[in-house]
Amino acid sequence: MHKTMYLPCGGEANFDHSSGISYRCEMCNAVLGSVGQPRSCREEADKWAAYEKAGMWSWDYDRGEPGERRKQLASE
Ligand SMILES: [Zn+2]
Repeated sequence: MHKTMYLPCGGEANFDHSSGISYRCEMCNAVLGSVGQPRSCREEADKWAAYEKAGMWSWDYDRGEPGERRKQLASE
């Protein structure tokens, strides 16, 4: 069972059953990680991936909002 992911670009991504391996952003109508993915869609996702890699913040794809860490930082 594949669930909907809520992306930083503001769109929702659902499992693309036609490809069987990827997710498609409904708002941008693009497969995540594909060359056809618009910059506005990819840059947001890349930004959060970089934050997460740096051990800073992470994006909560289940809720469609920044994870706990950012909220703590923002309230300081
Ligand atoms: Zn998007």
